[in-house]
Amino acid sequence: MKVGFEGRERKRESDQAPKPIFGEDGGGGGAIVAAMITTPKLPDRQPTMTVEGAAADQEIISWFEGLAENAGMVQTQTLRRIIELNHRTEYLQKWLGRDLRVQDLDPAALESLFSSSVPLASHADHEPYIQRIADGDTSPLLTQEPITMLSLSSGTTDGRPKQVPFTRFSSQSTLQIFRLGAAYRSRVFPVRAGGRILEFIYSSKQFQTKGGLTVGTATTHYFASEEFKTKQKSTKSFTCSPYEVIAGEDYKQSTYCHLLLGLAFSDQVEIIASTFAYSIVQAFIAFEELWEELCEDLREGTLSTKLTSPEMRRAVMDCLTPNASLASKIEKKCRQLEESNWSNLIPNLWPNAKYIYSIMTGSMQPYLKKLRHYAGDLALVCADYGSTESWIGVNLEPSDAPERVTFTVIPTFSYFEFIPLYTRKERDHSTSAVTDDFAEREPLPLSQVKVGQQYEVVLTTFTGLYRYRLGDVVEVAGFYKGAPKLTFICRRKLILTVNIDKNTERDLQIVVEKGSRLLRQTRAELVDFTSHADLAVHPGHYVIFWEVKGEAEDSVLNACSREMDAAFADRGYVVSRKTGSIGPLELRIVESGTFRRILEYYIDHGAAMSQFKTPRCTTNQVLLGILDRCTVRRFRSTAYG
Ligand code: AMP
Repeated sequence: MKVGFEGRERKRESDQAPKPIFGEDGGGGGAIVAAMITTPKLPDRQPTMTVEGAAADQEIISWFEGLAENAGMVQTQTLRRIIELNHRTEYLQKWLGRDLRVQDLDPAALESLFSSSVPLASHADHEPYIQRIADGDTSPLLTQEPITMLSLSSGTTDGRPKQVPFTRFSSQSTLQIFRLGAAYRSRVFPVRAGGRILEFIYSSKQFQTKGGLTVGTATTHYFASEEFKTKQKSTKSFTCSPYEVIAGEDYKQSTYCHLLLGLAFSDQVEIIASTFAYSIVQAFIAFEELWEELCEDLREGTLSTKLTSPEMRRAVMDCLTPNASLASKIEKKCRQLEESNWSNLIPNLWPNAKYIYSIMTGSMQPYLKKLRHYAGDLALVCADYGSTESWIGVNLEPSDAPERVTFTVIPTFSYFEFIPLYTRKERDHSTSAVTDDFAEREPLPLSQVKVGQQYEVVLTTFTGLYRYRLGDVVEVAGFYKGAPKLTFICRRKLILTVNIDKNTERDLQIVVEKGSRLLRQTRAELVDFTSHADLAVHPGHYVIFWEVKGEAEDSVLNACSREMDAAFADRGYVVSRKTGSIGPLELRIVESGTFRRILEYYIDHGAAMSQFKTPRCTTNQVLLGILDRCTVRRFRSTAYG
């Protein structure tokens, strides 16, 4: 597999690198903040318990505090730098003209010229340029330096993966945010020197475009990059699995190896991690089935024949030695854990783990219950907030529960704008345009956001996206010095709508959470869910698909469907249900393994396990076909009579 930053990629991308982001005075105060906002040259970070490690942590924390203090000014400078690098590109010249002399404008004037001349844009506006890049056009389209790699956003929330440029800046900022987050975490949860991370991470398939660019998910590019190796070396914390396991083409085989090596190194494991929490939950669900086989391999130092990749087999065998006593110990624990339905699995098998680290917010929230079941009292630490397009915010308070966590914006990573959003009830009809459930006002720079207000995030990146609407809704929860602390609210896009009703992913999540509480009376639990607005029959109605583990009686599931129907609080829905223009909600129970099939469908189409998010609503005919074929029971709500 051809990955990494060899040859021409390295040479070209170094010019787009962020270091130093503000090398020379851009005017207007640039030099004043330049020293504190230049990326620090970090010494190799030693394990956090050492004096050297603590000094490295302190250095990156001080760097960030300097940025946060002056976040508004740093943002203005960041934008200036992006324009300086890229104002001769076709995209920017279209809006800023050919004669722009960046050096003649002070940063504030440039900022206002930029936001008054360059329009807000979506991925669709950038797509024709990205397509030309993919086809091999090397003229400066979005960035001055040619783009040589493209990333695929997961696309599972929006229906199809989107390609976005990936440059050296992307992996460098990933390394930077990981180091920063790790420095804050080590203050609260110090980890042992030389410890290991049991990381459920997976690369996706990579392919070449017509023009020879490498395409893969952003995490795939990162795992293959020098920065990923640097992170492991400099933190002296290594993943249990070698790269061949992460890069394995079959996620089930990779999961098996992650678990096997996690057990082999169980005494050294300090952290359990994944990109999104879904992968950890999936891995331990698999563990419930695989543990006997895993123990056998551990005892004998062998590998199950179901692992077919020769590279993966070789790499895992290099790490494995027969260990009969460890295998027996684990086997004994597993027998006991099986009796208690695997509650506290993680601290029992990884007694030295200090915390679990993953994205647990947003669409990952439904997996928290299961994660807590496996984690017992072990701390759940939320990973940072970002997207394929750009990193956005870092979690500075690792001990905050997932329900309360905030992400502090890093003002050198991109130029961020925030579109104020109002729900329709609050809408000011005279000034706002209605595009969905939200009304919006003019975008604001970071320095002008207000606590308690919700916004859509807009990005201008070093990788060639300009005033790009990310589609995420966040709320400003407060400030860390001058940098806003964001709570992730939801994807902006409406997912369920039949006529005048409007419900987002978050609305659905709340409703499903309420409905599934009734399952507590039974021995059943909700494994996963999705939904669909069925307009093929009249009146249209919502269909919610549940995969349930264990036994639930019809009477309980009937009550669940009623509860969910009544729980949609959107006025449009309530009115339509009362007048009969939306039919009764339908709850469909799908057979065990249905959501695994959905995952496999996405993975077969290029998605990566590491970035997978179950689509919470679908109109995709293939998915609907799977869901239809797998439906085993149906319940229609009687909530509105
Ligand atoms: P991707 O399209 O795979 O790059 O996923 C990026 C999206 O995942 C973001 O736009 C968010 O909607 C979501 N996301 C990323 N980080 C977080 C987080 N910490 N909390 C909640 N949602 C997140």
